[in-house]
Amino acid sequence: MTMTPDRARSLLAEIQARLEAQAPAQEASAGGGDAVAHRLAVATEERRVFNLRRVRLALERLAAGEFGYCQSCGEDIAPERIEADPLAPTCGGCAAQRAL
Ligand SMILES: [Zn+2]
Repeated sequence: MTMTPDRARSLLAEIQARLEAQAPAQEASAGGGDAVAHRLAVATEERRVFNLRRVRLALERLAAGEFGYCQSCGEDIAPERIEADPLAPTCGGCAAQRAL
């Protein structure tokens, strides 16, 4: 199945809504906190903000007609890859190279 712009848009909106619903609970009063729990909460929030930024970038690519194309080499991103991670900005080959 190919990813149509409409389907991509609804997938991205779904991801965005889920991330926004995960807004962190109010920080427990200062001083009595558990340091490990605090670090975990900070890491979780950083990840959430990072993914929200990826959603915005993906929506921008969609608006520009660049969604589904690798931002690094310009080739099509494999449909399976888009299905697995609609936020992926690059093809599998470029992502693998960057991870080295
Ligand atoms: Zn690429």
